[in-house]
Amino acid sequence: MAQHCGYARVAYNAALTIFRNALQDGEWKTLYDIKKEFNAKKREIFPWCDDMSQNASKNAIHHFSDAVKRWKSGQNRFPKPKNRSGKHSYQADNGTNSVKVYKKRVKLPAIGWVRMTEELRWTGDIGRVVVSRKDDKWFVSILVHTDEGNSMVQMPLIDDRLPVGVDVGINTLATCSDGTKYENRRPLKVYLRKLRRAGRMLSRKTRFSNNWHKARKRLASIHYRVSCIRLDSHHKTSTSIVRKASAIGIETLNVSGMLKNKKLAKHIADASLYRFLTMIKYKAERRGIPVTEATMFFASSKTCSSCGHKKTELDLSERTYHCGECGFTCDRDVNAAINLCPS
Ligand SMILES: [Zn+2]
Repeated sequence: MAQHCGYARVAYNAALTIFRNALQDGEWKTLYDIKKEFNAKKREIFPWCDDMSQNASKNAIHHFSDAVKRWKSGQNRFPKPKNRSGKHSYQADNGTNSVKVYKKRVKLPAIGWVRMTEELRWTGDIGRVVVSRKDDKWFVSILVHTDEGNSMVQMPLIDDRLPVGVDVGINTLATCSDGTKYENRRPLKVYLRKLRRAGRMLSRKTRFSNNWHKARKRLASIHYRVSCIRLDSHHKTSTSIVRKASAIGIETLNVSGMLKNKKLAKHIADASLYRFLTMIKYKAERRGIPVTEATMFFASSKTCSSCGHKKTELDLSERTYHCGECGFTCDRDVNAAINLCPS
């Protein structure tokens, strides 16, 4: 599988070279031209390619062609070559139903039956099959065209639903306008020591030695665990919020602005709030619950949710909101959540 990822990368880069060289000569190569040229010289440049599934290279060239389309339409920049340290993945299928799945096994072309940890949960025609590696663990992503359309099993909605405003933050992941708080599980803090240690161990090893590879794997697996814990907590929280809401109000995060703040940057990257808000949005959309986003300049924390008075100064250390105009006193985050709540 690692070799196939390598083959896909090499094919992508070869397609890029072919296309770019032709472009410099004022010539436009189509997908068909690139494929033809690649296939004509692949054996010469990559003698080992005959042991590989050609689906890996073919699909990689297709991906390159898509990247060219996105560049032409102005959506993306010109495609860049993929390097070894990037994401390891390749598309293994050769059209609909070309990859077989039987119980907990998947039959990958040129590789054979590979065990999976769980069975495929849907039945139907199998489309795109992508094999990828994340920190020394292998994943297969299988697209299934189900007969019954979206047969996604979802957590049922709660009976008495109300509009909910959600304030997201660093210490508390989410505060709802009804007063519920969801704490942020901050795995990075717990695992920081482990990560530092593993990083130190890695730096002491001779590069590319056996012990270096072992240390690298160890560091990667801690990173992987951290990301899993974070993802899990974000999923649970966002589902729980969406289930109890008839409408949702959220703020718009100025992520690039926040990351410039050096002191907070790490925590914000850790909390990855942006992804969390995206989860709330798509989960609500799937259930037909409207989501309103406040404009980026709406001062949800500084405004009094009772009378609408806006404070000019509000220190981050002030955990309780107290309004000087009407005397309203409330938890700082709950006040912000109420302000975000759609009426
Ligand atoms: Zn007030």
